[in-house]
Amino acid sequence: MKTEPPSCHCSLTAAMSIFETARAKINLCLDVTEKLPDGYHGVRGVMQSIDFSDQLEISPDLAADKRGWRVESNIRYIPSGETNLAARAALLFHSHTGAGPRSGLIKIKKRIPVCGGFGGGSSDAAAVLRALNREFAAGLGRAELERLGERLGSDVPFCVAGGTALAEGKGEKLTPLPHLDCYTVVCRPDFSCSTPELFAAIDKMKMRIRPDVPGMVKAVAEGDLQGVARRLFNVFEEALPKKQAEAIWVIKDLLIDSGALGAVMTGSGSGVFGIFPNKNAAEEGCRRLKAEGVECHLARTTRAIE
Ligand code: ATP
Repeated sequence: MKTEPPSCHCSLTAAMSIFETARAKINLCLDVTEKLPDGYHGVRGVMQSIDFSDQLEISPDLAADKRGWRVESNIRYIPSGETNLAARAALLFHSHTGAGPRSGLIKIKKRIPVCGGFGGGSSDAAAVLRALNREFAAGLGRAELERLGERLGSDVPFCVAGGTALAEGKGEKLTPLPHLDCYTVVCRPDFSCSTPELFAAIDKMKMRIRPDVPGMVKAVAEGDLQGVARRLFNVFEEALPKKQAEAIWVIKDLLIDSGALGAVMTGSGSGVFGIFPNKNAAEEGCRRLKAEGVECHLARTTRAIE
């Protein structure tokens, strides 16, 4: 049994905190491919990080006899213990590297809507991995952090660096793409979608239309915003129950009527976003949607973290 305190190569004391930003992701296009032998589904699409974020404050407890992570948040219904993805990331980091604390408190100021398809939990987990790796000088490279993240969830590897990327496999096979600079308005309808039910519906469906993933990759590479807007497509929209599909269409129509070049649902919903030709248009679009009573936020795409 180890008796020495957790290894810490930095100058942190128990009273110090680590701060990290966790950015939301959107899916510019998303396809569900084959069912894999382990029961998971293959996915393929282009992911993008945006400056719509949670703020994390990680306070390690460096006392050797303390174990366990707690999570506090302004959102009461996310887990407060070690089932929270952020706490699981801290535990995994310690067990994998032997570095960093075994216990502590993670305070999450959540802005990213929960269960909205914006990857909030995944991004919180990735933020914890990045922060602990940096502060405890564990020296893991981006690829290694992504592999760790894979053990926490299929969107976590992308959230490690964010930016613009083609995601394949279960979402963990990432090919970085050139930065796509644009303004978006992200909306959160007042209902949630069930991810397992959507996958089950997709399994039973004969998919008529699929996203043009190579076309999207090309449009991103060429900085062709109109081309990106034309190719926004998410197969999960096809699998939604009728009432939810109608509600998503109402918001997409509102986004288009408010100046968006295109609009689509993100992940397994129910979040929806539109992309706009410039900042002024996005601000005006956001204002109009708010006037219609839609919960929405202006966000700009972000580059990958180096
Ligand atoms: P994705 O787009 O990756 O499918 P999502 O945005 O739809 O994810 P999340 O907001 O990540 O969904 O939350 C999914 C579930 O994870 C919820 O049931 C939530 O209670 C749980 N969860 C665990 N940890 C967190 C966290 N740090 N933040 C948000 N949700 C969390």
